[in-house]
Amino acid sequence: MPPARLRLNDGHSIPQLGLGLWQVPEDSTASTVKTALDLGYRLVDGAAIYGNEVGQGEGIRASGLPRDEVFVTTKVWNSEQGYDRTLRAVDASLARLGLTHVELCLIHWPTPGRDRYLDTWRALIRAREDGKIRSIGVSNFMAPHLERLVGETGVVPVLNQIELNPRLQQAELRALHDRMGIVTQSWTPLGQGASFGAAPVRAAAARMGKSPAQVILRWHVQLGVSVIPRSTRVAGLTENLDVFDVCLTPEEMAAMATLDEGVRCGPDPMTFA
Ligand code: NAD
Repeated sequence: MPPARLRLNDGHSIPQLGLGLWQVPEDSTASTVKTALDLGYRLVDGAAIYGNEVGQGEGIRASGLPRDEVFVTTKVWNSEQGYDRTLRAVDASLARLGLTHVELCLIHWPTPGRDRYLDTWRALIRAREDGKIRSIGVSNFMAPHLERLVGETGVVPVLNQIELNPRLQQAELRALHDRMGIVTQSWTPLGQGASFGAAPVRAAAARMGKSPAQVILRWHVQLGVSVIPRSTRVAGLTENLDVFDVCLTPEEMAAMATLDEGVRCGPDPMTFA
């Protein structure tokens, strides 16, 4: 069963589940992306800082899929923030990808200490007008950054990609996204395996005949968020995509909610520079 799609506030849509490319080695990225697309993935989440955009583009072309069937994400890195730098960074990403446009470009981190995300956002708006990016969004933005961005520019991001997993459930930020019309997308969705052994995960896995990772990915799907697990193994890619034929019960969803500890795996967006 293919991943469902979520509607974006600019009229486009995004596959609910895709492939994450962080830490995928450049020399195996093309084959990982092609394998994923062959298996049915249609969303590939990359970033300039991952150092593998050349392979990301090669894998997309090697799949033989029509360009409009693949949803490509990239991100502007912190050092490239600011109006002119961002315009150049978008062009450089497109050149590495070998593409004329991407479906989505995100500001990777707000880096409030640099205070350049407003100009960065204005550059993404310009690149969208120029046809280089179809939809524009952000990543790791907290409530004050989102509110300032929209207050100053009037342009609401289509999506905010944030750390989200059973130990960091982000209920408040998800509720704000819902109010603002922003899709939530989960990074490190498996939470480094920290909840694989938790009782609610094990119980649902046993009932559904699924793995702990599949239970957690299914939980993301039922939260209504988009999710981008990373695997480089065929078995892992296949397993992670195979979560659209089962359903957690309301009781199982409630049990999953008890796993929230507010603990991050990654950096704090308020201070990360
Ligand atoms: P993830 O939660 O996808 O976990 C990846 C790890 O889990 C790998 O070690 C992988 O081998 C293992 N794994 C994958 N499938 C498994 C399975 N079925 N069973 C057991 N283990 C499994 O973590 P991630 O890569 O940190 O996050 C996913 C993606 O999110 C990244 O690849 C990247 O695209 C994006 N990301 C974005 C940001 C950001 O700041 N915007 C930060 C981190 C990651």
